Amino acid sequence: MKSNRTRSQLGRPRAFDADRALDRALTIFWRNGYEGASLPALTKAMGINRPSLYAAFGNKEALFRRALERYERGPAGYAPKALEKPTAREVVEALLDGIVALLTKPQNPGGCLMVQGALASGENAIEVMTGSVLPVAADCVMPVEQYDVVDGVVSLKSAVAATPYHNVHRRGSDSRQGALLLKSGTLLRAPEIAVAASAGMARVRVSSQPAVMIVSTGDELVEPGDPIADYQVRRSNAYACAATLRKRNFARVGDDHLLDDEEVLRDRLALHLTTHEVVILSGGVSMGKFDLVPKVLVQLGVQEVFHNVAQRPGRPMWFGIGPQGQSVFGLPGNPVSTLICLIRYVIPAIAEAMGTSRLPPERLALASPVTFQPPLAYFLPVAIEHDEWGRPWVNPRPPNGSGDFLSLAGSDGFVELPPGPNTYPKGFVSNVYRW
Ligand code: AMP
Ligand code: MG
Repeated sequence: MKSNRTRSQLGRPRAFDADRALDRALTIFWRNGYEGASLPALTKAMGINRPSLYAAFGNKEALFRRALERYERGPAGYAPKALEKPTAREVVEALLDGIVALLTKPQNPGGCLMVQGALASGENAIEVMTGSVLPVAADCVMPVEQYDVVDGVVSLKSAVAATPYHNVHRRGSDSRQGALLLKSGTLLRAPEIAVAASAGMARVRVSSQPAVMIVSTGDELVEPGDPIADYQVRRSNAYACAATLRKRNFARVGDDHLLDDEEVLRDRLALHLTTHEVVILSGGVSMGKFDLVPKVLVQLGVQEVFHNVAQRPGRPMWFGIGPQGQSVFGLPGNPVSTLICLIRYVIPAIAEAMGTSRLPPERLALASPVTFQPPLAYFLPVAIEHDEWGRPWVNPRPPNGSGDFLSLAGSDGFVELPPGPNTYPKGFVSNVYRW
């Protein structure tokens, strides 16, 4: 780009700026008082030497009057009567001593601030709005409720102290430069998204959600909306599972229904294993003749990790890892078991695989005693209720067997009671898992 200034122009000393020099002179007078403003200090601040000071302004008194004249024309409109005084000393008294004494509160030294434009010194005040950048050379912000403005001069109210960086949100005071704002594994909720946005992150790297396939097995299962015979069962598990995943923001969820037929299961599960990272089956994992799921999965190269868990309900649960690392969960078909196993095992396993930091489970106290004899972990549906102090308790809602999912309606989740036999007293605290 072509500059319209030549090299020689840039090198030439600037023309003497009389107004600027007067501003600087007045700053020195203001800071030191008339007597304290020495000629060397004045000439240094004004950028001139002693002879040229005399040539331009005459003596110190003439300089002072010129400076005040300029000042009076300035935006503050300050010192209106002072120049009518006959002698410099009286002007000084009127302006520097008298006015400073008037405006400076004895209990609050330094509390007199000149409004913007009056003086180019450290005693200026500038009006700023919340969130403004701190003006250069300012180091304190006072709320409008804490000062008065009289004739363009700000004075702090009594009992108000102006301390350095009061009401100033200093750069780096929320977080040091280079500090980690969000740990990996953090779920991005509203506050975390705001933090990422404030750090200018237009794109963030997040873990991808797995593609999940929910497979119901069972010849007896009938789709809601289709006609049903006495011996048939509604295919409700798939909907409960999909709702559980949806509530936890899983978006890539598919759903299939397979008959209890080895060939059908093999073909369709082979397909699902190629397209999904997580396969959740319900039904077909118990000891019955048509519980073909574990056998078929092993045929497809899914390695069994465990089958049967010492728990009620959901004992026949099966888990394996597919040839490409797919997670395959064979959940028992009884609806209470399916839902409890899904929430207790499948959801945490997916969260772990996604790198989500694990929170400790919620823990609450039983509102009434529970007796459970078998030496198994006991998953007991509960409703969370609050006492008159607002404290939450879990009220047992034992279902009538693991097929009784009607009793789950209106409950909040289940607790995990450790293997007994035991009577768990009122107040017994255990992990709570919400639906
Ligand atoms: P299973 O584990 O296949 O022996 O099934 C146990 C019980 O759960 C049987 O009464 C099944 O009819 C029932 N069941 C299996 N799958 C479902 C499902 N998707 N929805 C509702 N009930 C089911
Ligand atoms: Mg079945």
